[in-house]
Amino acid sequence: MQCPICGTTCCTSHFNSWWNPDLFDWEGQSNMLAQHCADFFDEWWDPTKFNWEQASRELAIFCIEHFRKWWDPDKYNWQEYSGVLAQYCSGHFDIWWDPDRYNWQDASWALASFCSGYFEDWWDPDRYNWKDSWALAQFCSYYFDRWWDPSRYNWKEHSDTLAQYCSRHFLKWWDPTKFNWRTSPTLAKDCPQYFHIWWNPSKYDWKRGSHEIASCCVGCFEIWWDPDKFNWKRNSASLASQCNKHFRKWWDPDRYNWEDESYALARHCSEFFHDWWDPDRFNWKHSWALAEYCSQHFHIWWDPDKYDWKDGSCELARYCPEYFDDWWDPNRFNWKVSWALAEFCSEHFYKWWNPNKYNWKDSWFLAQFCTEYFEVWWDPDKYDWKKYDYVLSEFCPQYRHIWEKDIRLRKLLRED
Ligand SMILES: [Zn+2]
Repeated sequence: MQCPICGTTCCTSHFNSWWNPDLFDWEGQSNMLAQHCADFFDEWWDPTKFNWEQASRELAIFCIEHFRKWWDPDKYNWQEYSGVLAQYCSGHFDIWWDPDRYNWQDASWALASFCSGYFEDWWDPDRYNWKDSWALAQFCSYYFDRWWDPSRYNWKEHSDTLAQYCSRHFLKWWDPTKFNWRTSPTLAKDCPQYFHIWWNPSKYDWKRGSHEIASCCVGCFEIWWDPDKFNWKRNSASLASQCNKHFRKWWDPDRYNWEDESYALARHCSEFFHDWWDPDRFNWKHSWALAEYCSQHFHIWWDPDKYDWKDGSCELARYCPEYFDDWWDPNRFNWKVSWALAEFCSEHFYKWWNPNKYNWKDSWFLAQFCTEYFEVWWDPDKYDWKKYDYVLSEFCPQYRHIWEKDIRLRKLLRED
């Protein structure tokens, strides 16, 4: 039914202008009514006309405040909307709960997920649909001892939920013959404290779980490490970042994934730099990481022909300013990031300064970090004073007599 004022179906703003129980399409629009007009519930509610079959769901979701007025177990659509009751009306659980009418087949998971506070009232191992075992593990771990049944639990699909949410009951449920080893990375991730009990190198899923074993079970490195099984292709970086303490035990230049994960060596294994450094294998696309993390070995790795100037110029300026004279090359440096020269290499200002190449979009770095060279770089036609005059005020007040006059003149010229 449309509102005569604004045309909206089941309009809330002008409810009294259109509401007419005799003309209303109860069959087709009961759901719209319940969804939009809960505020006028008392005015429209008519249990004999309401379409329970289709719109029980909207009652349960949107008219929860009027639950006691509409609830009728004989009319409610239990078949399709049992789960909605559990989800939205758990606060009235005591009123609606009926184990003989509840749709255990489709909605057992909703009981476990949303009514765990009433676990003792609804729990029935013979009616619960064990295909939804995950919901018990995830939301009813507090009642673990009450529901746990290894012969009924859905190990095939939900072994990982046990590991993830019931790790404190590990010793009660663990069974290597039933556990689905395809989900074994969750054991490494969620049950590392029981490593010695579950560990089985021939069953563990190395292909998908090498990262988890490297990052969560590093304390047992000596036990699980197996260079033939570890997934070097995908998880070399996990070794570099998580197991760097054991570097010399796992390092193998022929197996390490240099192509994708060179950066991780530079970043996490700089103290073993001399062990792994190989300019022919290192992926120079990651050379920014050398500048950032291995600057102390600058003279060993530096190669201006191989270095990735495009993506790594900023890191050179930022992390290797003490080697400025060794690397500086105005023709190779990426002037897009010339702000980094201003900020980090200001003491070499005279060596790199070039007003035609400097990226004046980042003018303010000059004002803040190269103040002492103000008279060298200042150019009122290039400095973006419309945006960054405040940086001049803050960092270059001693040159105010210069820039203030220049800016005023430029403004006057433009007005003419
Ligand atoms: Zn209206």
